[in-house]
Amino acid sequence: MQLLASYLSGAWSAGSGSAQLLVNPATEAPLAEVRAGGHDLAAAFAYARTTGAGELAHLGFAARGAVLASLARAIHGAREELLALAIANGGNTRGDAKFDIDGGALALSHYAELGAKLGTAPLLADGAAIQVGRTARMSGQHVWAPCPGVAVHINAFNFPSWGLCEKLACALLAGMPVIAKPATATALVAHRLVELFAELLPAGALQLLVGPAGALLDSLAPGDVVAFTGGSATARALRSHPAVVAHGVRLNVEADSLNAAVLAPDVELSSEAGGLFLADVVRDMTQKTGQKCTAIRRVLVPADQLPEIADALRDRLSRVTVGDPAQDGVTMGPLATAAQRDDVRAAIAVLAAATDAVHGGTGDVTPTGVPAGKGFFVAPVVRSTRSPMTCAPLHDREIFGPAITLGAYDGSPATAAAFVARGQGCLVSSVYSDDRAWVTRFVAGAAPWAGRLYLGSSKMAAQSPGPGTALPSLLHGGPGRAGGGEELGGERGLHLYMQRTALEGDASVLKSLLGDPA
Ligand code: NAP
Repeated sequence: MQLLASYLSGAWSAGSGSAQLLVNPATEAPLAEVRAGGHDLAAAFAYARTTGAGELAHLGFAARGAVLASLARAIHGAREELLALAIANGGNTRGDAKFDIDGGALALSHYAELGAKLGTAPLLADGAAIQVGRTARMSGQHVWAPCPGVAVHINAFNFPSWGLCEKLACALLAGMPVIAKPATATALVAHRLVELFAELLPAGALQLLVGPAGALLDSLAPGDVVAFTGGSATARALRSHPAVVAHGVRLNVEADSLNAAVLAPDVELSSEAGGLFLADVVRDMTQKTGQKCTAIRRVLVPADQLPEIADALRDRLSRVTVGDPAQDGVTMGPLATAAQRDDVRAAIAVLAAATDAVHGGTGDVTPTGVPAGKGFFVAPVVRSTRSPMTCAPLHDREIFGPAITLGAYDGSPATAAAFVARGQGCLVSSVYSDDRAWVTRFVAGAAPWAGRLYLGSSKMAAQSPGPGTALPSLLHGGPGRAGGGEELGGERGLHLYMQRTALEGDASVLKSLLGDPA
């Protein structure tokens, strides 16, 4: 049995104490184990603060970008091996695995290119200089400087590659050393990535803790940053952690999200926009078995179109083959853990009591290519309601699996925006319409409730990645229930790891600080 070691203070450390097993979620076959005790986490923080921070500061933006490019190349070089690990440990189909592994490489490459553009000055400008004195000599300039501490990255189980890489790219490019903690259940991919990356990174730039967090956060100090992705209950615990509170540690939270998709009344299902809507809903239900933070959960459709849409979804979802993703012909794998399966099943039961069945009942399935009784499977489930605004389970609990609810509405943009808002803050919501006046009214009402709004239409349908794909160039994060965090978004992604400071002084001194010799 492979023992996953942590990479701390420049060395691999096996840990001690009781072992936690990592399994294949399709077959429940054991894959590896971790032992979380016995690590000197205070020493790991000290190593990051001294060696890691020093090495990164020495490099500057452009050279750090070049390092990120080398990490992306390492992923490409080990791609088949990483895909196989994601299929075995994540329950991913090959397509799901590519989404995670290639998504990680894409995020690294994006920030590698940004690093090349940012050059060699130690600071980044935030907007233009401002005259604050009687003459232009007396000037003000906002700048971003790297935070002086350690970036602690705590990731969810669903994207062990992308989650590690998107956070790592931003922190390293900003100049902060990282201690990464992947979710234990699917840590094989993240562990292999760090094995590959450790060869390429400056000493102390990246450390890895596998297994439960234990006392990880106890060593936080002023100037550190925590970026967390996971459930809202865990987020609450982190927000009130004594070290986070005592030191005012910046904490970015990416948590639960009840993302909505809205079909506007101008769209026929047979049109390009209608086809895009159907394809996006089905992809988000089945890709990664619905275990995407950005996946569509709540679908609002004009009341008169609900029967036709229900038929179309039944038709497409009946062609989904659920089973062991390592087997040919399987198009949707299991959930990642037994706990997730139980949680999803319990949430579907609550939803089922308040809605009508459209497809999949409550998710029972006999999976393909799996020993009887094994695996953490749930089939795609579609429910519907004619009272979407008052159907509490639809808005109150994220089902982190292949389940959606269709709600019927009157077609007004105000109702559609209120439906998005009813989710109490989400990462992304989508609308499908070719009616610009309708979309304008919808966006005005829905934008404050979503980190990203995806505007599906006939003209962009052919080149759309769908709302479920978080792009490195656009913000990822959302208000309210989604955690209030912001990641990615090009250069904005660095700001989580930097302090904004207003400089006030001689205009020429300010310019020189930003690398302009004038
Ligand atoms: P989770 O149970 O909250 O775990 C997330 C991470 O937090 C894991 O690495 C976990 O470690 C760690 N953790 C748990 N308790 C901790 C503590 N007391 N101190 C420090 N770290 C702790 O969530 P999950 O089950 O992995 O993920 C599912 C949830 O994540 C879903 O609800 C989904 O909405 C959300 N999610 C959000 C996004 C987003 O971008 N907004 C993306 C993906 C997932 P262990 O694995 O060792 O327990």
